[in-house]
Amino acid sequence: MKKELNFNSKAIHGGQEPDIGYGAVMPPIYQTSTFAQDTPGNHKGYAYARSANPTRTALENSVASLENGAYGLAFASGMAAIDAILKLCQPGDEIIAVKDIYGGSFRLFTKIYEGYGIKFSFVEMHSMHTLEDLISSKTKMIWVETPTNPLLNIVDIKTVSKVAKKHSILVAVDNTFATPYLQQPLNLGADIVMHSATKYLGGHSDVVVGAVVVNNKMLADKLYFIQNASGAICGPMDAFLTLRGIKTLHVRMQRHAENTAEIAKYLKHHSKVTKVFWPGFKSHPNHKVAKAQMKAYGGMLSFIPKTNTIENATNILSKLKLFTLAESLGGVESLVGHPATMSHGSMSKEERESRGIVDALIRLSVGIEHVSDLIDDLEQALR
Ligand SMILES: *Cc1c(COP(=O)(O)O)cnc(C)c1O
Repeated sequence: MKKELNFNSKAIHGGQEPDIGYGAVMPPIYQTSTFAQDTPGNHKGYAYARSANPTRTALENSVASLENGAYGLAFASGMAAIDAILKLCQPGDEIIAVKDIYGGSFRLFTKIYEGYGIKFSFVEMHSMHTLEDLISSKTKMIWVETPTNPLLNIVDIKTVSKVAKKHSILVAVDNTFATPYLQQPLNLGADIVMHSATKYLGGHSDVVVGAVVVNNKMLADKLYFIQNASGAICGPMDAFLTLRGIKTLHVRMQRHAENTAEIAKYLKHHSKVTKVFWPGFKSHPNHKVAKAQMKAYGGMLSFIPKTNTIENATNILSKLKLFTLAESLGGVESLVGHPATMSHGSMSKEERESRGIVDALIRLSVGIEHVSDLIDDLEQALR
């Protein structure tokens, strides 16, 4: 039996073959909507580019390989990927989702799918005792995100999957923050893993793409049907850019995690900072779970400056130079965000604060610049 490649080799070679046309080492961008047939139905595996495109296939095989899954699917965006997964449900089904879920997922669940008769309950899964009580005969899926945004809570994927299996419920994990370099949900018992490949997989803030990976053939067939029927596919150029990003995923993630660890420790001891949220600290409530299910603690962290006002946060944000104030995360460049006015700006102050998102909370997506330059930038802004 062929020995399985290590992750770093899979990032470059996983699911990839030289192109059958001219042997191109990098997958060509098949910028075409259709493919010639010799006789009706007799073609080279590709008939119409919504159903399949060779550049997209290369990306789908790569992501499947990275997540240790059998089947990969690529979509127009992370939200399109989540939308396809939700279409596995019927009116009357119930989904239990992690409480501090990505804002776009919360909006899709509550503003669109609740209207189609699917019910959602949002629970704090980092303390698990309530999970089993919420399961009913109608529960179809458990939706997990870990680490969460922006407070970096950790959910124990293995334990959730065990509970779900007992009740024959699907577990879907949004693995955007961790990436398969740090954490592989299918190996931990999850049924479905999805990505906003816009973030770390693409890694260069130049593309919007989504991905889904599963191991079960029946589940894969249903998802391929939905992908083709609904049509929210990613284009060949976007597939190419994402593949190009993936080839350095392991190197980037290693540096993201190293830089973030140094910045977390620097901020923790800063006189102008009251709290730092980072799962690498022993004092983090689920540090042990993070240590067990992740290879390192990732490239994201949040902190609360000493003066907890929107004005103080705005002041710090406007002084940062290397950290760019912007939505999104996971690119090679460092970004900073202000959840209270940006990602969670549509929530009332009470709703926000019940989730721990206070006025001055600042979120960092730590890039792969030299860490001393990043710390110097934070120092001058905090001072
Ligand atoms: C960005 C993001 C999404 C949505 O992905 P898009 O590519 O922006 O559609 C979903 N989940 C998480 C955790 C994200 O960060």
